[in-house]
Formats: sequence, structure tokens, C-alpha cells
Amino acid sequence: MDPSSSARSRSMLALRIHRPGEALRAEDIAVQSPGPGQVLLRVAACAVCRTDLHVVDGELAQARFPVVPGHEIVGRVEKRGPGAERFELGARVGVPWLGWTCGRCEFCASGRENLCREARFTGCHHDGGFAELALADERFCFELPSSFDDASAAPLLCAGLIGHRSLRAAGDPARLGLYGFGAAAHLAAQVARFEGRRVFAFTRPGDVAAQQFARELGAEWAGGSDERPPEELDAAILYAPVGALVPLALRAVAPGGTVVCAGIHMSDVPSFPYELVWGERTLRSVANLTRRDGEEFLELAERAHLRTEIERFALRDAGVALERLRAGDVRGAAVLIPGDAP
Ligand SMILES: [Zn+2]
Ligand SMILES: [Zn+2]
Repeated sequence: MDPSSSARSRSMLALRIHRPGEALRAEDIAVQSPGPGQVLLRVAACAVCRTDLHVVDGELAQARFPVVPGHEIVGRVEKRGPGAERFELGARVGVPWLGWTCGRCEFCASGRENLCREARFTGCHHDGGFAELALADERFCFELPSSFDDASAAPLLCAGLIGHRSLRAAGDPARLGLYGFGAAAHLAAQVARFEGRRVFAFTRPGDVAAQQFARELGAEWAGGSDERPPEELDAAILYAPVGALVPLALRAVAPGGTVVCAGIHMSDVPSFPYELVWGERTLRSVANLTRRDGEEFLELAERAHLRTEIERFALRDAGVALERLRAGDVRGAAVLIPGDAP
């Protein structure tokens, strides 16, 4: 065997961040062997999430540095660690944010592993999918519906999943408001329409393109987040990480309504008069995901024929994709593709 090719096979391109606030660096780093129960995946696509921005900006206390971000990974099993038998070599799997849980605590034992205090998250506690290869615990991987190609499946793994969990947390609303019409909302809107709900979309004031996008996906009304919807809502979900939206959303929901904060990080919520939660309004968050959420949602994604709107970026351009996301300048979801520029 050509020694240079064997040397190449032991390292890979990864986009890594060393300290919060720094830029991602394209680096050649060593490929780790899969440990017990782990699989080594050849990454085919990795979607970019708002949470990746919170990691690189240092807004998540739990993140470890240096780290390779990325937690919406579609890859194929290249190598299996000791005892890893769930997937065949070459099988296509999805890797989400939830990378490991303790399996023993009160939360893990009661179907709420998303709240496990020892949970480890992909692209946060350990390296994620902004790379040519990635390791994952096979128990936390998902089988993916075959009707989605690699790049289209990637945004299902967080945007789709969190969209779904937040929609379930909103109860059974006939009139649903979505604040922040990005990757998660564009999938949640389709699920909501599939379930017969009426969708009202709120974007950054003046973002006519996002409002048009929301209408294309079935929103009956779209406007700026500073506007009141034409009628009261039964629930609202906040995908934008902007605490100032909380009182606005509470004002938009009817008595008994629910406001769900879906992001892992938000700017501070300003104080607001008690009357905004009076009338049995509920304000809550959703945190992370359970494996059961993933299985339910991926089945629903296929049944509802969800259409993931994606914009492709070369892996090397992960930093560009993050800045476009920060600027609100991505239609649907940004997806990184290793290899040549797509
Ligand atoms: Zn636990
Ligand atoms: Zn995410």
C-alpha cells in the first residue's frame, strides 16, 4: 500500500473551533477509532443549526473546546467499534444533538432522557459533523427514511426534530404562530398544515422574502414580529433566540394559550406585566430531544412528505454558512457537503 495514502486515511478535514468567539479553522486532524458501541461514519451531509452559532459564540456553558460543531449528521458506517452491531457497514444513519445519556437517572428512567443532567451533546461535548468523518454511539443514531436524499435528510435531525417537539409542547392549537421562519419553522409549518392547523408566521420586520417563503409553505398570514396577527392564536412557538419576543407572543395568544421557547439559548426576556400570563396562559421551553421523538418525527416526515428546503455549502465554507445563518440570510436550512464544492 502506498504509505502516503495510508497516512491520508488516518487524518481528515474538520472545521474546528478552539476558543469561543474565534473563527472556525479548517484543520487536518487525526481520525479516532470507534470505541465500544460506537460507529465511525463517513459524513455525507451535515446541516447547520442556530445552536452551532451558540457553541462558536461561547453562549453554551457546557461546550468543550476545541470542538468540531455539527449535530445534524447524515453518514454511512465505515467502521464499527467493539460490540457495535446495530448497523451494517455502509448503512446510512442520522446523528442528532443527543449523543449520550446516563440511562439511570430519574429523567432517563421516565422517558425524559432529554433532561438527563449527564447528557452529552454532539458537536458540543464531543466532536460533531463539520468534518469528513464522525464518531457516534450507535444507540443514539437513527435510521433515515429512504425518501430523503442525504442533504435533504440532514435538517430533519435537529430543525425537524425540535420543530416537532415544540409543536407537541404547544398542545393542540387550531391557530399556531411561528416566530422566526428559518430551518425549524419551515418544517414545523409543514407538519402543522399536515395536521390541519392554521399557521401564522412572524419574521424579522421587513423580511419580505421570508414572509413569502412562509406563505409558500402554507402560512395563511405572514408579517413582522412587531405586528399583531389578524386574530388571536392558540399557541406560538419562538424559534428566534430573542427574549424580547416573549411578551409579544404572550400578547398574541388567547387565554389558555401556550408560548413555547424552542431555542437552547435566548437573549434576556424583558420584564412584562402579569396580565400577559394571566388567563391561564402557559410559557414554557423545550429542551433537546429524546430518541423516541426522533423515531416518531422521522416516520411523520415521510408520511407527511415534508419538503426540506436546503442551501448547500462546501464543508470548507462552514464559517460562511454560519455567518449567513446569523444574518438571517438562508432560505430553509444550510447543509454542509464534504468533498468538492457542491
Ligand atoms: Zn440520565
Ligand atoms: Zn440544532
